[in-house]
Amino acid sequence: MVKISQAPPGIEGPGFFATSLDKVIGLARANSLWPLPFATSCCGIEFMATMGSNYDLARFGMERMSFSPRQADILLVAGTISKKLGPVLRQVYEQMAEPKWVMSIGACASSGGIFDTYSVLQGIDKVIPVDVYVPGCPPRPEQILDGVLKIQELAKNESLRHRNSSEYQALMDQYKIG
Ligand code: SF4
Repeated sequence: MVKISQAPPGIEGPGFFATSLDKVIGLARANSLWPLPFATSCCGIEFMATMGSNYDLARFGMERMSFSPRQADILLVAGTISKKLGPVLRQVYEQMAEPKWVMSIGACASSGGIFDTYSVLQGIDKVIPVDVYVPGCPPRPEQILDGVLKIQELAKNESLRHRNSSEYQALMDQYKIG
């Protein structure tokens, strides 16, 4: 079934429709998010299932996986991230152009999961900012889809000024990025 996006809130009359630029750009961004899957273990398999015909991520305008960070909008981190891999993940994040969002899929990416060991990063938010966390070990594809919908909401409602705001800059400073 083809999903038709709802028009953003605006003023409507015979032969015209007016809304703000923020909302039009938000609508376009939310429905054309290109994901970069950074999958290292079992949660990555769940993500593959989410991409398959049964769950069909393409319904959300996301069928085009980007393995180049420069052409990706969402970083999907799925799986155990070792401390050694932390700088690589951070470099991938830094190479993505703004605006960008990060989704942490599963217990391992979000908190280290069951691997409370010397070698495993206890959550990717130690190295990059995260927008949406998806719980579970592993999360089901429905949960991953729910996370995607939440990122779409963030993209849809984000002000065009947000990325230049002092709050956003403070967040980047916290991570010593940029
Ligand atoms: S959260 Fe569970 S399923 Fe996901 S990578 Fe970790 S151990 Fe595997």
